[in-house]
Order: sequence, then C-alpha cells, then structure tokens
Amino acid sequence: MKKESIKYEHFRERMVQKQIEARGITDPGVLSAMRTVPRHLFVDEALMDQAYGDFPLPIGDQQTISQPYIVAEMTEALQLSEEDRVLEIGTGSGYQAAILAKLAYRVYTIERIHSLYLKTRKLFDKLYYYNIVTKYSDGTAGWRDESPFDAIIVTAGAPDIPEVLVNQLAVHGRLVIPVGDQYSQSLIKLYKDEGGVRETNLGGCRFVKLVGECGWRI
Ligand code: SAH
Repeated sequence: MKKESIKYEHFRERMVQKQIEARGITDPGVLSAMRTVPRHLFVDEALMDQAYGDFPLPIGDQQTISQPYIVAEMTEALQLSEEDRVLEIGTGSGYQAAILAKLAYRVYTIERIHSLYLKTRKLFDKLYYYNIVTKYSDGTAGWRDESPFDAIIVTAGAPDIPEVLVNQLAVHGRLVIPVGDQYSQSLIKLYKDEGGVRETNLGGCRFVKLVGECGWRI
C-alpha cells in the first residue's frame, strides 16, 4: 500500500473513534462504511489533509461536504439493509452517497448544480461505485419513476417536509431531513407504516439550503 493511503487510513480510524464512536454511533455497518470510504478523495486536493477533521468543508459553488458525524448520524437513522433502495437529495461531493452505497442495494442521488453533478458522477465511475445512479434535477420533486424508496435522505436544509417525498416512501420507509430556517435546522426522521407517518426530532444541525420547487426559492 502507498504511504499516502496508509496516512489517510490512520486519519480515518482516528475520525471513527473520536468523532463517531465517541458520540454514540453503534451500528456496525455504519462504522465499517465510515472506516472504508476514502473521504479525502471527495474533496479538492488542497483540502485532503483536512478531510477527516470534525467539520464540514467547502466543495465549490458555495456548497459543503457534511461533517463526518452528521453523515454517520443520518445514515444510522435510515436503518439500512442490503436490499434497500435509497434516494438522496443533494449529491454534492458524493461522500454521503458513497457511504450509503456500502450499506444499501442501490442509491439514487439528485443534484441541482450542474458542475457538481458532472464532477461527482465522474468520481463515482473512477472509484467503481456502480450501485449509485445520478440525476441532474430539482430533487424536491423526488424521483417518481424509481419510487417507492425504502429510505430517503435530504442533505440540504428545507423550510418544511416536501409532501411529494413522503409519498415516494415505501411502507416501512424512513425519511431523514433537516427542517428549519436558513441558519439552523432540526434533523427530522419520519417513519411510514400502514397507519401513517411517525415523526422524531433527532436534534439540531446546520445545512446549506435546499433550493427548489418544494424548498427555498433561492
Ligand atoms: N450529501 C452531500 C452534501 C452536499 S451539500 C455530500 O456528502 O457532500 C448539499 C447539496 O444539495 C449541494 O450540492 C446542493 O447543490 C444540493 N441541493 C440543494 N437543493 C437541491 C435540490 N432541490 N435538488 C438537488 N440538490 C440540491
């Protein structure tokens, strides 16, 4: 193994222990995915050495790759199993999708900024993430042709929960979404069963805006 990748493997192990396990994430699949996915390859070369730090980082176009702990927390909340089909709104760097792809059968991910969409699609090919399907559009409309989904994750902050996404959830499906104003949000989890939907508040968070038809209008 090259010296560089040994260095990043070491950074990654420390990230999992100090930021993820220490804050109570216990799902073995989530921990293993966080130990495997090379987060430094999802940021610009100049930021690689910071990729495993306890913070979000810029990825261009005023967008960010989420803090590692938030990625782990949202992924654990989705309760994925290997047959699950997952929809992600907000591809960004592709890091969250790569984590999901380790745990689910297939990941469908939507990005509204064309340059990010293209760049990340290329990266998925380069890193052999063949179970990630990408789309360039407004994700607040979901992905009707591929619905229903076992899980839906929104990685940008919404003013409220888009009804259309709830409709595209399968029975027993889980939706995780940050909801609030543009400065701070609550991480909301919805669970759908035959009787309706149950809502849980997982705590505070801060995301860039979900911009679209059923999100913020810029
Ligand atoms: N999951 C990403 C987080 C990126 S930040 C990662 O792991 O890096 C949020 C992303 O959501 C941004 O790239 C932003 O352009 C995108 N976004 C915002 N509104 C959107 C919408 N309506 N549809 C699709 N993507 C959207």
